[in-house]
Amino acid sequence: MSNQYKVHCDCNEIELEMTGTPRVHAFCHCEDCRALLDVPYHSVTAWDAENVTITRGEDNATVYKYPTLEMTRVFCKHCGETVYNTNAMGWRLVSQLLISKCNNDELPSELKSNAHFFYDRRIVDIDDQIPKS
Ligand SMILES: [Zn+2]
Ligand SMILES: [Zn+2]
Repeated sequence: MSNQYKVHCDCNEIELEMTGTPRVHAFCHCEDCRALLDVPYHSVTAWDAENVTITRGEDNATVYKYPTLEMTRVFCKHCGETVYNTNAMGWRLVSQLLISKCNNDELPSELKSNAHFFYDRRIVDIDDQIPKS
């Protein structure tokens, strides 16, 4: 029985389902994530594309390709919430924050970050025990 997770956008028009095990669950400090999402670092769960499916409201999803990056942001045309983004590898990245928000503010423990990536490119220092590379 494989894991299954559901998230939805703020206005609930789009529902997204993730199945199985993400390739990565980590904090990403790279400048590409910052540019795409306007966050100091990205709280990532990264999945193979086939493991992330829009199960409701696909018509409401808008795909925006960032002009200078091989990255897209997929967001709801009504509420503007980003439901996932893609990277140059074609993975689909769902924010840990969105998963938590849609799950009674609880992030399933198996999706919690186990690494900080591109920590040398950071704009904020993080004081925790999670390995940094
Ligand atoms: Zn919405
Ligand atoms: Zn990144």
